[in-house]
Amino acid sequence: MSVVAGSGESRGVVIGVDIGTTSTKAVAYDTRGRQLATHSVGYPLDEPQPGYAEQDPQRILDAVLESIRVTVAELDRSVAGLSFGSAMHSLIGLDADGNPITPSITWADSRSSRQAERLRAVPSGLALHRRTGTPVHPMAPLPKLLWFAEQEPKLFERVSHWVGIKDWVLLRLCEVLVTDHSLASATGLMDIQQLEWDTEALAVAGITEEQLPQLVSTTTVLSGLTAEAAAATGLPEGIPVVVGAGDGPLANLGLGAVHPGMVACSIGTSGAMRVMVERPNVDPLGGVFCYALTEDRWVVGGAINNGGIVLHWAGEALAPELGAHAEPELLALAARAPVGSGGLIMLPYLLSERAPHWSALPRGAYVGLTHGHRREHLIRAALEGVCQQLAVVLASVRSAGNEVREIRASGGFARSGLWRQMLADVLGVPVSFPGGHEGSSFGAAVLGMQALGLITSIDVADDLVHIEETIRPDPAAAATYATLLPLFAELYDALVPTFTSLRRLAPNLPPEPTPTPPPM
Ligand code: ADP
Repeated sequence: MSVVAGSGESRGVVIGVDIGTTSTKAVAYDTRGRQLATHSVGYPLDEPQPGYAEQDPQRILDAVLESIRVTVAELDRSVAGLSFGSAMHSLIGLDADGNPITPSITWADSRSSRQAERLRAVPSGLALHRRTGTPVHPMAPLPKLLWFAEQEPKLFERVSHWVGIKDWVLLRLCEVLVTDHSLASATGLMDIQQLEWDTEALAVAGITEEQLPQLVSTTTVLSGLTAEAAAATGLPEGIPVVVGAGDGPLANLGLGAVHPGMVACSIGTSGAMRVMVERPNVDPLGGVFCYALTEDRWVVGGAINNGGIVLHWAGEALAPELGAHAEPELLALAARAPVGSGGLIMLPYLLSERAPHWSALPRGAYVGLTHGHRREHLIRAALEGVCQQLAVVLASVRSAGNEVREIRASGGFARSGLWRQMLADVLGVPVSFPGGHEGSSFGAAVLGMQALGLITSIDVADDLVHIEETIRPDPAAAATYATLLPLFAELYDALVPTFTSLRRLAPNLPPEPTPTPPPM
């Protein structure tokens, strides 16, 4: 392990602060990767209208300060610095004094669906995706800016600067307006080869470079906390603050999947597949995103909307008598069905889907249903569908020319042995399960340690993460899934005309039922 300072004594304590969608978590680590203290503070994700998903920036700033303050209070040693991560794709309009005049519009907000669809329909849409690394999708700031320009033109004119949530938090903590290459690579506005704002994307969005924060490297060290922020957190004034990165690339780092060819795969409520590479690239069809971690480490991959949420749906729709939190019983039911669910395929697009098609159109489907299928087949097919969608994303990652050497997985699904094995079987490669660390906040802390000279390289993350279990694919099951995967992938294309008609005819069809939110 290449620790430079603090070795043995672990004097180099860094607090990783991860500004997530539902909470902010601060975690203090030493240079051996030991967690010393932690605190998280939650906040709501508001939905004032269908499709909106926004947050109050001030509440998030308060949560950041509180999470740091409680973490610092728990520590019995001094802190070398803070390092930040945040959810990607957020957008806030600021006035000339740096005060928000819009909410923080999150990745989950789909108000700009029509703008994104329009942009995707023209060839320059794919060119923008390939140049900026960000799919043209309502999650991203570029279509959101178009929405503001078209739907809120007066407000759009009043905005002095457009920033992400972490940029604004750092403006309040350190009085500088910067954004890191990582979050910028998820805006749809930065040229990932040049690491500069993309002139054409800015022209499409109708904004100027002066309205965006200064672009800086993720390891930039800001000269420190203001007196006010210091007082609110219990840290000394001027303590170094590392700008940090987006939570996706930081999650790879947090899992130790930091060397080229290592993949981080997660199935929580949603899911993701990201391989670490040294140079930015996007496949010719635009199936993957490409986001920066540092100048020479990037993640290429895709996020899926339908992860563990599909199990929640299966419980409600197929086994309501089991009640809430019935995951173990549902998985026991799924285990009764054979590999491949007796020829039943489920497309799990309950919340439409992101990678690799990045379209709002798709809907879920069961195909291959016979009178012999029972609910255990339907539940198993749903879980298989989640893994198969990730396998399709992995295929896009590979077709972008990326080697896949090792897969590390995390998320709530890993509580089930059945689901762990299913993922390895469907992907057809061994899957490792790290134990312990706190994903993105650990990644932020490790990046901060490198920026502050406490470790020689972020590569030490691989040594610091302990692998609990590695699951190898069962050859027979993997062969069955390999046969089924092309059918699964083709069904998407086959059903696009139906998805399109369903959308067009929706106003004339009976209303769709309102979903119940998953338990928190
Ligand atoms: P989040 O992504 O919201 O942080 P988690 O990583 O905790 O959430 O994952 C939540 C998902 O984990 C749920 O949607 C559910 O499908 C799945 N899950 C919860 N409990 C179990 C279990 N015992 N076995 C398998 N999967 C589970």
